[in-house]
Amino acid sequence: MTIQHYGTAEQRKRLLTDLVAIASISESEGEKHFPDAVHSLLSQWEYYKTNPSHLYHGGRSGDEPFLSAHYYHSSHAKTLVFISHFDVVGIEDYGEYEPLAFSVDELTEAFARDAQQFSHAVQKDIQSGDYLFGRGTMDMKAGLTVHISLLEKAIANRWPMNIVLVTVPDEEVNSSGMRAAVGYLNHLKDKYKWVYSLFLNSEPVFTQKPDDENYYIYSGSIGKIMPGLLFYGKETHVGEPLAGISSNYMASFLMNHLELNDALREVVGAEKTPLPVSLYQKDLKQEYSVKTPYRTAPYSMYFYSNVQPMRCLIFFKRKYTSRPHDLMKRIGIYANENKSKGSETFKFLIMSNSKPTPSSTTVKRKLPTGKRKFILAKTLMTARNPS
Ligand SMILES: [Zn+2]
Repeated sequence: MTIQHYGTAEQRKRLLTDLVAIASISESEGEKHFPDAVHSLLSQWEYYKTNPSHLYHGGRSGDEPFLSAHYYHSSHAKTLVFISHFDVVGIEDYGEYEPLAFSVDELTEAFARDAQQFSHAVQKDIQSGDYLFGRGTMDMKAGLTVHISLLEKAIANRWPMNIVLVTVPDEEVNSSGMRAAVGYLNHLKDKYKWVYSLFLNSEPVFTQKPDDENYYIYSGSIGKIMPGLLFYGKETHVGEPLAGISSNYMASFLMNHLELNDALREVVGAEKTPLPVSLYQKDLKQEYSVKTPYRTAPYSMYFYSNVQPMRCLIFFKRKYTSRPHDLMKRIGIYANENKSKGSETFKFLIMSNSKPTPSSTTVKRKLPTGKRKFILAKTLMTARNPS
């Protein structure tokens, strides 16, 4: 009789706790070694003792460290693919609980003990006993746990299909694991003449609005673009702020317009893509100094499902080629209203990569000194392919 390792909820909870205990933060040593743990766990199954070639450790074959385990049924071509990632994001935001971030039992107990410091909704979840806490419990080692237990069930019951489990690193960063795994999936398909009928991704589901308690099944896929921007101001000494312009200040105007902008989401039937949100916004100063920052580079994430990357780029260009002009005008007006006395014309030269010939506009800005200043603002836009 085949031993069922993960047939009960308690066994799956243990497995999840063990997987979370491996601190596989993206680009860390833990991430590199995570597939070893899953490999040695699956190697103990009778099926993989008999069929060791059905287990593939990418890292040991000079590939990216992804792991694949398949179940083969000789009389069927239909194949299911289970996909998951095992890297997790960092834990700095755990604060005083950081040492417990990968210890599910201890962290869940600590949260229950300190429940009063959380919001009412979180307290309810903690007290229900239905939740486990820890980095990676949700995104997405619970998904991998479900895949492993399903694979075991399929093998034990000789389900009439083929199954490939693939779990990859680097999903939260550059997707190098999934890119490498695609090559291996193609290799299996050619070798066995398989037909991939369904890809099951066990990522968590997300709320569509606050307090949304529905569980969703997503079908299809979604793409993303991430336009990067460079704001180029003019540095000055902190004691003479009007002799330059801070790139942080410039960036804040455009980012204020882009962030959570409903006009930039895509609506497909009854579904709406998530609102755009900033993922990064920093000036490029390397160290502290009294020199004001003059280069700032933000980027935000935009989700699209029907729009192709090139169309996204065209959309952004059409929508924002006039923006640098508007932006600088608004900064000039703001400065005029808030900052100074006297009257002097302040000229901004504006370039954008969609307009080869620089255009210029003149706005009134009052400066305490009587000098004319010139500022060059250059906005670069790039688009990335979805990944
Ligand atoms: Zn995820």
